[in-house]
Amino acid sequence: MSAWTFIPPDTNGIAFLELDVPDAKVNVLSASVMLELDALLDDALSAKKIKALIVSSRKRGVFIAGADVAEIGTICSETDGHLKSQEGQAVFRKLEKMPYPTVAVIDGACLGGGLELALACTFRVVTDSPKTKLGLPEVNLGILPGWGGTQRLPRLVGLVQALTMILSGRPVNGSKAERIGLADKRVPHEFVAEQAYEFAEQIIAAKGRRAVIRQRKCHRLESLPPMKQFILKKAGEKAERKARGHYPAIPAILNLLKETGRGSLVQGLEKEAAAFSRLVMTPECRNLIGLFHIDQQIKKERGGTAEVRKLERTAVLGAGVMGGGIAWLFSRHGRPVRMKDISWEAVGRGFAEAADYYGQLVKLRKMKAPAVSMAMHRISGTVDYTGFRAADLVVEAVVEKMEVKKGVLSELETKVRDDAVICSNTSALSITEMASVLKHPERFAGMHFFNPVNRMPLVEVIAGGQTSEETVVSVVALAHELQKTPVVVKDSPGFLVNRILIPYLNEAGLLLQEGVDVQRIDRLVEGFGMPMGPFVLADETGIDVGYKVIRELEQAFAPRLEAAPVLQKFIDAGLLGRKAGKGFYLHKGRQREINPEAAKLLEEYSGAEISDEEIVERLILTMLNEAAMCLEEHVIERVDYLDMALICGIGFPPFRGGLLRYADALGIERVERALERMREEYGERFKPAALLQEMARKGRTFYENGFGKGGRHGR
Ligand code: NAD
Repeated sequence: MSAWTFIPPDTNGIAFLELDVPDAKVNVLSASVMLELDALLDDALSAKKIKALIVSSRKRGVFIAGADVAEIGTICSETDGHLKSQEGQAVFRKLEKMPYPTVAVIDGACLGGGLELALACTFRVVTDSPKTKLGLPEVNLGILPGWGGTQRLPRLVGLVQALTMILSGRPVNGSKAERIGLADKRVPHEFVAEQAYEFAEQIIAAKGRRAVIRQRKCHRLESLPPMKQFILKKAGEKAERKARGHYPAIPAILNLLKETGRGSLVQGLEKEAAAFSRLVMTPECRNLIGLFHIDQQIKKERGGTAEVRKLERTAVLGAGVMGGGIAWLFSRHGRPVRMKDISWEAVGRGFAEAADYYGQLVKLRKMKAPAVSMAMHRISGTVDYTGFRAADLVVEAVVEKMEVKKGVLSELETKVRDDAVICSNTSALSITEMASVLKHPERFAGMHFFNPVNRMPLVEVIAGGQTSEETVVSVVALAHELQKTPVVVKDSPGFLVNRILIPYLNEAGLLLQEGVDVQRIDRLVEGFGMPMGPFVLADETGIDVGYKVIRELEQAFAPRLEAAPVLQKFIDAGLLGRKAGKGFYLHKGRQREINPEAAKLLEEYSGAEISDEEIVERLILTMLNEAAMCLEEHVIERVDYLDMALICGIGFPPFRGGLLRYADALGIERVERALERMREEYGERFKPAALLQEMARKGRTFYENGFGKGGRHGR
């Protein structure tokens, strides 16, 4: 079956080229779809009486989602990459040079190769649908747009806008596309066919005089050498603040745009193909493509085969940091939320938390005040349980104390319907034990959101001993609807992410006790690629909060995990982190500087010299060893999901492809040897997990040959 349909010109001379990739939810430009397009353009070239060609999609909500990422992943050499880029460029060059005007009609996602195709058309009509998004997200895969995007976009919208889009990978909506000159016209989604047709008629009437349709912006000033240099420098500084030298695509994009733009398009395309071919062979690109596939897989994950129950009406118990955040998330996704706490003052804090998240969206111009007002109206507060009987789902987010949670849950069960699903947002407490106070433990599960709820994509879904499959699949489905990344994990202390994070944070505390400097540790960990060092993280979450979880996990995992006493000293001195204005650092707004009080507390510690490599190794291999134990104990089944959970839950650097992918790159034997060496030097906590020992002995890796298809764990 063909993907493209060519409809010959009607009496007005308007022809159509429509894309509908068979048996696929979205249109993707695979090699075969591109070949077909190439042949059809030849037909369209020879067809007589065409005065304008409209290019559109027959799929609802999608124009073209991009090139086929799986095919990019199979590129096997720079030569191959160069050729693939040139082949695509040649097809779009043919489209660009058609002897009559071409109009891309974009009603839905228009990303990557999709936008590059649209850029090769003479005009672009977009709709006002919220699904209409135009972007070049290639940077997220560690590459750059290789089918002309880096050349045509700056020529159309100017260097500043083009750099923003290419370096960030973030798409723009229809309205912004029109504002920056990427689209020539924005039309209502409901009348897109009629208005696109009218637009084509207008073009024909204007006889190619583009200015009659719309005056295009002039970007001459931006291309003047000193101005161009300044723009590139500023954009580079901004992008590198985040990338910190770990993403080769960033300097490659800047360099390419520096070298091209003023010369001929053909020369620019050649340089683009060369730059693409170099990037596509980097380990960063391979790792990021790997993550793309894991993400796609998780999106399809249901968590079981039972029938999903729709959880529409929601309630939250406890209106603190997390309760307010979860209420915000539910309301943001159109759900009514009832929020209960023990006093109106506490309920008010939950509202303030939700309002703060909406405020951030307004600031980013992602929402307007009237929409915020409507969304906030979906949240209502109570100090008793009125309204809870309507709830399909209640998420408990009260203080992290087993006795309090049990008391609250047994009371809650008398206030909700028998079929309501109940979840706990506990960070580390046993779901099975909590469920022991419930009459219907089968409708109870863990739904562990991460802080801040608006930024952290991960949700751990935890099945207790008696949780039904229906409950698990319904909670997983809800997490998908909330656009989160759900990962089902076993009910065991700390679940997955905190179980791995906590020993790492504690190890950082032990390093302090050996006299290593706070800022040095943070700097080294950030240099490895983590979004923040362990002490910045501890300050952000609250040193007391982190320490409490360390003590909880200590009960389960001592003597391997023993809380570093230095942390208690900070708590005793009231240095709790950002919420107290001071912790390891002094916090003034967004500013942060080392806290002299903290330095004083640490004065008593001194120790042997320790190298930068050793510090990083101690911290990262502590996590890795714990991750291996989680696999052994089946806390999670798949290595790829474990990697994704750490990326989404603690920001493990994506360019490394995940913690276990990183271990594979190091070599398991080398990891095991390093752990053995540290075990001798620092103690038994570094004893390599049995799984690592076995893998090292058998020469296995986590991804290639250790876990069978789909990365499923099974020795
Ligand atoms: P918080 O202290 O900010 O809020 C807890 C709220 O629960 C308070 O408003 C308190 O008044 C209320 N509360 C106490 N007893 C109650 C009762 N009987 N009925 C109703 N409300 C009651 O705490 P938080 O940080 O939002 O944490 C809540 C839960 O989420 C904990 O289980 C915590 O482990 C978990 N969690 C926290 C984070 C985090 O970073 N803060 C992250 C993930 C999970």
